[in-house]
Amino acid sequence: MNQLERIHEAGKIPDIIFPVFTNGTYVDDEYFQLMDKCRNLVPVLSIEGGKEITDSRRGEGVYDKLTENMKRFNDRGLIFGASITVTTENYTEVTSDEYLDWLKKQGCRLVIFVEFVPVTDEAQYLAPGDEERQYIANRLEAVRSVSDEMVLLSFPGDELAIGGCMAAGREFFHINSHGGAEPCPFSPYSDINVKDTSLKEAIKSRLFASLRDNHVLEAKHEGGCVLFSERETVQAIVSGMHTSAE
Ligand code: SF4
Repeated sequence: MNQLERIHEAGKIPDIIFPVFTNGTYVDDEYFQLMDKCRNLVPVLSIEGGKEITDSRRGEGVYDKLTENMKRFNDRGLIFGASITVTTENYTEVTSDEYLDWLKKQGCRLVIFVEFVPVTDEAQYLAPGDEERQYIANRLEAVRSVSDEMVLLSFPGDELAIGGCMAAGREFFHINSHGGAEPCPFSPYSDINVKDTSLKEAIKSRLFASLRDNHVLEAKHEGGCVLFSERETVQAIVSGMHTSAE
């Protein structure tokens, strides 16, 4: 089953809303028709801010393609969202009134701010620190207080307000494109595959249970992503499982 066929399957369950994350470069007529027919599918387009920063991260021409697709969604009366990776380089731009007003004018009704989580030490400088996170939280609060035309979510920023890290089956988990059940997209480790098991069994996987039972999800950390801060512990749990399975 290819990706579009899987999205078709989700469209057949009208009482669940499915955000469909896309980089927007492969959105064709069939895709538009599917979204038009199945209004429980909400496309969420990945964008980094204005043209310069979007094209520098995602490739030349991507920004124009995204704005063209936004227009096509809007012309059809389709709700869509935007997913923005927030870094130390774009956090003021993407939380500004100007930028959010622009998104609203395109027809965007949901913005998910995803804080950049480094997976290498070299990229650490791009990760928002305490000061930037506080700035983002203040800006989102200010925007929410004057307008409810767009839903604004910050991830993992809003986790503080809802009780900390919700990964590893505490509230959700992530399934990668191969079926591997991972604690979160930002913690790409897996010991079970949903092709071989049910979601109920996946949520009880040894890895997830170990992270929950050993209180790794509640570990003290510098902000940002707890499982990135605790990546050595996560890796040690995963390698311990491989060793004990041999
Ligand atoms: S693993 Fe990191 S990004 Fe994912 S839910 Fe936990 S704190 Fe948030």
